[in-house]
Amino acid sequence: MQLAHSREADAAGVTLCRVNSFYPGEQPLPFWRHIPYSFQEMDPRMLAAVSRPHWRPAGGAAAAGGAATPAAGGAAAGRAADEPEPLPCRWGYQWSSVVCEGSRYLPWLTAQVEAMGGVLLRRPRLSSLEQLAELPEVAAGGGPDAVVNAAGLGNRELLPDEQVVPIRGQIVRVRAPDSVVLGGTGQVGNFSREVCPEDRSRILEGCARLLPSLAGAEVLSDWVGLRPGRTRLRLELQEGGLRLPGTGEDGGATGGGGGGRGGREVPLVHNYGHGGAGLTLAWGCAGDVVALLQRSGVL
Ligand SMILES: Cc1cc2nc3c(=O)[nH]c(=O)nc-3n(C[C@H](O)[C@H](O)[C@H](O)COP(=O)(O)OP(=O)(O)OC[C@H]3O[C@@H](n4cnc5c(N)ncnc54)[C@H](O)[C@@H]3O)c2cc1C
Repeated sequence: MQLAHSREADAAGVTLCRVNSFYPGEQPLPFWRHIPYSFQEMDPRMLAAVSRPHWRPAGGAAAAGGAATPAAGGAAAGRAADEPEPLPCRWGYQWSSVVCEGSRYLPWLTAQVEAMGGVLLRRPRLSSLEQLAELPEVAAGGGPDAVVNAAGLGNRELLPDEQVVPIRGQIVRVRAPDSVVLGGTGQVGNFSREVCPEDRSRILEGCARLLPSLAGAEVLSDWVGLRPGRTRLRLELQEGGLRLPGTGEDGGATGGGGGGRGGREVPLVHNYGHGGAGLTLAWGCAGDVVALLQRSGVL
């Protein structure tokens, strides 16, 4: 919220917004409802407005080639033959939140780290955490003081942790008239990074049923991402840490690693499995990681 209300907001791609959530029937109120600055159940007039047949100007249905009664403003009005049925929105809530554009936010965060003296090193994909010992700088004894495992879905193979599953999200970006993101899907256990034409159609049709002005909007791009789902987010200090080459307890330089007896143990914090809430939870989880590293004595 502070970022959204700062001069950095535009560069970081973070904007304050009002969120409307609609459901076909009443749900338990979300547990996080006390966190946003405002939260309220949806006004029934709003529910009626989005659920009624979509309004058209007089003669609109005929102009569009429809044969049935043109829809008017009232809930009792008919629906034009070529018009999709409105989504059943019988319950919902509204709250204040921030929208975060990942393609701007992540580069902005990276720039913040670099401005504070952080250096990003890009290395080949690891097949295990122990393989860190083989990186030239680590093998030479200049390894890290601590390791934070934030490999998300990659932990299926890295640890391996079979509780980690992909939650596939496909979105569509349209011109309406600014660039607007529609979607996305939430397909548990689906590993496909390919754009699925059926998902695209479902997203476009579903969104047009909620907001008729989106019908026929020009598609700018499609995108698929895999959220790192897990039965439960894992944020903990691993007992025993991670053994890396370095100066052993006897003071001699060793080249142990790979779980051997030589080398040194560095604190290892696991921080993964955030599913569809990684951006939301990032600052809080990062704070917990710092607290764990402080407890381990490395900070
Ligand atoms: C369509 C969609 C919409 C979303 N909407 C929201 C939203 O509204 N709000 C929200 O909070 N979140 C949202 N998310 C979820 C959010 O993007 C994720 O929760 C977040 O990206 C997880 O971050 P992470 O750093 O844990 O994992 P990732 O972003 O997956 O990063 C993991 C990193 O680890 C690296 N890695 C993995 N394996 C290895 C390996 N073996 N060796 C070396 N490196 C490795 C990867 O290359 C990657 O860089 C959305 C996701 C999708 C797909």
